[in-house]
Amino acid sequence: MDYQIDKRGFYGKFGGAYIPEILHKCVHDLQEAYIPIIESDDFRREYRDLLRDYVGRPSPLYFARRLSEKYQCRIFLKREDLNHTGAHKINNTVGQILMAKKMGKTRIIAETGAGQHGVATATVCALMDMKCEVFMGKTDVERQHTNVERMRMLGATVHPVTTGNMTLSDACSEAIRDWCCHPADTFYIVGSTMGPHPYPDIVARMQSVISEELKVQLMEKIGRDYPDTLMACIGGGSNAAGTIYHYMNDERVRIILAEAGGHGVDTDFTAATIHRGTEGIIHGARTLVMQTEDGQIEEAFTISAGLDYPGIGPMHANMAEKKRTNVLAVNDDEAIAAGYELTRLEGIIPAIESAHALAALKKVEFKPDEVVVLTVSGRGDKDVQTYLNNKHMAGEYGNF
Ligand SMILES: *Cc1c(COP(=O)(O)O)cnc(C)c1O
Repeated sequence: MDYQIDKRGFYGKFGGAYIPEILHKCVHDLQEAYIPIIESDDFRREYRDLLRDYVGRPSPLYFARRLSEKYQCRIFLKREDLNHTGAHKINNTVGQILMAKKMGKTRIIAETGAGQHGVATATVCALMDMKCEVFMGKTDVERQHTNVERMRMLGATVHPVTTGNMTLSDACSEAIRDWCCHPADTFYIVGSTMGPHPYPDIVARMQSVISEELKVQLMEKIGRDYPDTLMACIGGGSNAAGTIYHYMNDERVRIILAEAGGHGVDTDFTAATIHRGTEGIIHGARTLVMQTEDGQIEEAFTISAGLDYPGIGPMHANMAEKKRTNVLAVNDDEAIAAGYELTRLEGIIPAIESAHALAALKKVEFKPDEVVVLTVSGRGDKDVQTYLNNKHMAGEYGNF
């Protein structure tokens, strides 16, 4: 079975490019241009140098001894939390800004939820001296004030979006609207494996550096270049895509992903799109969507702003449907407890998004020698207040 994208931009029945007429030319141009650019020597050299010297790659693969003892297997953490700007997002924005430059674009737009992708985009725009405009739901602007100030300090203009629920999904719609008005000079840097073809494939390729490094690092540490099990959290699906990219078609490797259950998959307060979604179109792609019977997008809910999206990348909709991946829903309280646990066992405060992947460790059976690689997608500095506000969910580690 091949889980990669096909020539028409589909993963099985999911994906494609469902876009307004006015964007046809620029999406088509991008479809034609992206692979030759990514495969050019020029691009590869610049991208590699920036990942090494600016982002700080390769990110370490760390054997977590105490966590391994607790779960009775061999757990290695892929430390995307140590990247510049604190998460995996920068791998993608560095690549897309180089692509924008090669295509002669002068203005960058981006959507953001928690503000992590907005910060990663504003960062590379400062680096490359490009004009940067970020669309962010007004609710998120209020919830994530520090990230808004970081973006402004980096020189970006932040547009608070006041349509719909005023969160990530509305920010995406607004970015697409802006793109329709400025198709000629604007490059839209999409933050996850979502959006019309070729974005899911572009973002997956940019993040695939994670599993490219895993192959080398595992060979060094365990003498073979694949793990038994890969684990990651999944919002739109980019850190998961990067983690599994070079193992997607390798059936020796089990893949377990964690999506945000919020208060529970059976409640109205959830972001578990793979559990709850039905087939539909969101932001230019056919995928699973949380929607009402007449196709209105439903609001996603989770304590984790980075997972708060009512859609899912089409590659993940396909792999989940074909049972290549096992997607578990992790609730807010379970994620909080897992975040505290990693903090106390290993001295690493993870992003609440990443804590969803860690919480999945409790839901899976492992063999004693099993090699598990779990991606810590980001650091928890941005989430300290949320962790403290929810100390009562932390169990034994909450008594301080
Ligand atoms: C944005 C974000 C996520 C979710 O996005 P994906 O595209 O699913 O990876 C997960 N973790 C962190 C730290 C993030 O900032």
